[in-house]
Amino acid sequence: MEIIPTKKIVNRDGIKAVKNGQKMNEFSHIPNLKKPSWLRVRAEFNPNFHKVKNQVNEKRLNTVCEEAHCPNISECWSAGTATFMLMGSVCTRACKFCSVDTGNPKGWLDNDEPMNTARAVQTMGLKYVVLTSVNRDDLPDGGAQHFANTVKLIKEFNPKTAVEALTPDFKGLKSSINTLVNCGLEVFAQNIETVERLTHQVRDIRAGYQQTLDVLAESKKINPNVLTKTSIIVGLGETDSEIEETMDDLIKHNVDILTIGQYLRPTHCGITLGAFWLQQLDFWAVGGYPPSTAVDDSG
Ligand code: SF4
Repeated sequence: MEIIPTKKIVNRDGIKAVKNGQKMNEFSHIPNLKKPSWLRVRAEFNPNFHKVKNQVNEKRLNTVCEEAHCPNISECWSAGTATFMLMGSVCTRACKFCSVDTGNPKGWLDNDEPMNTARAVQTMGLKYVVLTSVNRDDLPDGGAQHFANTVKLIKEFNPKTAVEALTPDFKGLKSSINTLVNCGLEVFAQNIETVERLTHQVRDIRAGYQQTLDVLAESKKINPNVLTKTSIIVGLGETDSEIEETMDDLIKHNVDILTIGQYLRPTHCGITLGAFWLQQLDFWAVGGYPPSTAVDDSG
């Protein structure tokens, strides 16, 4: 893991932020656990990787692949897939597992981004696109309309492309959820991230376990044709029974798809509470969601 010192930056859009989201904290002096061999990935770069990188740079797009220091970036980009991160690279929140820069963009938005993203999807010939974004608590609608505009333009230029939107929680604002689930997307996702007991330790204080469940249930209520999806990160100190309780809660709130991913500490300021757990996946799959809906999503 690359050790990145905490520092303040001004990004390419002129927004001030804390680099990698976290200041030095009580976890900073704790060394990393040694990664088991099954978690190690070999970086491979083929011409597709450079094609994706060129599109991202040329159109000034952001990807969660880069901002989250995802270890699978070479594999995904070489296969021609990328997860676009809308509304800039600075998040108003600071979850302790996340390495996205934190700051206040004060209403800034790139109005060309919806069109640039739609054109990039077209050039890359993507059949399935995942859009995500930073949290934008500084915008009255949390950025819902900008998100929806992007989905609509992707559909206009790429009518056969399916779109999954992993959105902020919009502080539970029903009008924003409505804007998103009625914009033509196939999958609406909001991540619960962890079990109820660890939520305030792991996520930003403005996020909430019940708030995420309510957002997912509300989206299903508004538009039952859109699939709902969420993710849990394991390796943060949760127990098996807590994972099962979370699965029960998700089922009760009509969540269609669950992915489970192994936490990999992104920088030396990231939270470190647990261990490597993914070998438990079969147990959780049998105990909660059917195996086809609980998917290995490590990285
Ligand atoms: S809200 Fe999302 S992008 Fe922002 S700090 Fe939390 S996980 Fe990272």
